[in-house]
Amino acid sequence: MCESDSIGPDGTVRLRCYQPYAKSHFFAGSCGSCPRTILIGVEAAIEMMGSGAATVGELGRRLKCSRCNRRIEGVRIAVDNRTPECIRREGRLPETMGIVVSG
Ligand SMILES: [Zn+2]
Repeated sequence: MCESDSIGPDGTVRLRCYQPYAKSHFFAGSCGSCPRTILIGVEAAIEMMGSGAATVGELGRRLKCSRCNRRIEGVRIAVDNRTPECIRREGRLPETMGIVVSG
């Protein structure tokens, strides 16, 4: 899905590989000790890490639960599964444009 060197030293994918899909993809992870879930857009994640060369694994190590200050676990890529037409009509999901905390 990306040029060579898409995998970082920790074996997870670099954030910039998701940049072409930023309108419909976001990262999701959950707190290990409370029901809180953190959703973060691709662009917001790159901004937080300061570089698109940062990896999904590094993002996971950076994210913390704002309630219990525990690390956010199992950060993975998530997809807005609406059709492109629908996304155009209804607009992007808020989680693709910044950070959304729920739970
Ligand atoms: Zn928590």
